[in-house]
Amino acid sequence: MRDIAKSFPGVRALDGVSFTVEPGEVHALVGENGAGKSTLMKILSGAYRADRGTIVIDGNRVTIESPKRAEELGIGMIYQEFNLVPELDATRNIVLGVEPARGVFLDERAATARAATVMQELGIVLPPGLPARLLSVAQQQMVEICKALVKKARLVVMDEPTASLTEREIDALFALIRRLKSQGVAFVYISHRLEELPAIADRITVLRDGRAIVTEAAKELSQDEIIRFMVGRPLHAQFPELPRVSDSAPVVLDVEGLRTAAHNAIISFSVRAGEIVGLAGLVGAGRTEIVRAIAGADVPLAGTVRIRGERVVVRNPHSAIGAGIAFITEDRKGQGLVLDMNVRQNTTLAHLDRFAHYGFIDAGAETRVTSHEIAELHIRTPSGEQPVRNLSGGNQQKVVLAKWLIASAQVFLFDEPTRGIDVGAKAEIYGLMVELLKRGAAIVMVSSELPEVLGMADRVLVVRDGAIRREFARADATPDGVMAVATGVES
Ligand code: ADP
Ligand code: MG
Repeated sequence: MRDIAKSFPGVRALDGVSFTVEPGEVHALVGENGAGKSTLMKILSGAYRADRGTIVIDGNRVTIESPKRAEELGIGMIYQEFNLVPELDATRNIVLGVEPARGVFLDERAATARAATVMQELGIVLPPGLPARLLSVAQQQMVEICKALVKKARLVVMDEPTASLTEREIDALFALIRRLKSQGVAFVYISHRLEELPAIADRITVLRDGRAIVTEAAKELSQDEIIRFMVGRPLHAQFPELPRVSDSAPVVLDVEGLRTAAHNAIISFSVRAGEIVGLAGLVGAGRTEIVRAIAGADVPLAGTVRIRGERVVVRNPHSAIGAGIAFITEDRKGQGLVLDMNVRQNTTLAHLDRFAHYGFIDAGAETRVTSHEIAELHIRTPSGEQPVRNLSGGNQQKVVLAKWLIASAQVFLFDEPTRGIDVGAKAEIYGLMVELLKRGAAIVMVSSELPEVLGMADRVLVVRDGAIRREFARADATPDGVMAVATGVES
């Protein structure tokens, strides 16, 4: 790709980017949210047309006017949101996109055999007959890769493939990538997990503000250097200084005898104003279940939740909003962001009564409040009128926060708040948490990243098998100590 430029209304997404991939190479593409990574790859895969620049494959200049054309050219694209047909099994999904030979109808048996061959070559075993919706995320991803390869992809683009995989699944994915590499298949690999790049990438290109800042062999770039290229400014301490919580600070959230359905465990804890309580534990330990019960996303079997001493009955997410409980998950679509609506609409949607006078919406007030939050939270958007879909993940996360701030929430439940978010935006989210603390909020944070829990929490509660097994004060919480309890080595 040579000198590629692309603008959207109000945004120059790409500004003369050149990018090459060699056969059998894994080329990592990194950059902060909004740097232009996805746009560059969407141009390569025919989803967008570039305003300027050329694409050359095997020395020939090509025009990629559609995803279909990209496929013909051997470019396979695996988006973060998979495109599988949920009711069909792995084999049928793999076969689905295969075109029959000219003039001949798709020979189902031949196609099935081809899917089986591809899976076998890759050493992938997937339960036959099982609908894709019942496959794990890792398995679905394997199906996507097979789909690309059955169409003879020579270049596979993966946009953040490991964001929701376990360590074990990541190992399996990397093994698969290496096997395909040795057959000459090339990869463009987009990831925010810089620590995994040395294990998989041959070269790294850093994009910043729509420009390619550097392309270098992976072993020549340290993580610190990559971060410096990404943010273009020295990044200060990863975690902000937390305000001190005084012992006399009022208890904002008090959970007593909460009984969760899946683990049938009894949960009691409280959080003071200005305090962050971290829930640590292994994936599947039951941390999300606890915050979901408090947020009314799942109805608990028993127990009492008090906000500033007042008992609240939270039966669904809507009543949680009324009670002042904000629930922020990594799934930004699932928590009420309407991607096709703009920033202003998303910010004020749940609170239109605040802006209504005699049945009319006070558009001026709505715009003022939105602009205020855009400035306060440093939401990167040309204006409040930009559709949220066009914002990067970190900035979408901030819109979610803006919405809750307007709702005057007092309790913020964060579930994996920074998953899939780059280092720069992460630091900003941490900064926002501190901002919330200063406004007197109480925060509960679930995170699978131990450094994040240890860096941000005033107290760490370790969850195993659905129950709180141990509480660590900030000063006593060490990685080894927390892990020992989380894994059950110590009880
Ligand atoms: P990355 O994938 O690196 O996070 P993107 O390529 O998604 O970055 O975005 C680059 C810039 O282009 C961002 O400012 C984003 O808001 C903007 N953008 C991306 N897609 C669109 C679109 N369809 N309409 C308007 N702006 C967009
Ligand atoms: Mg992207």
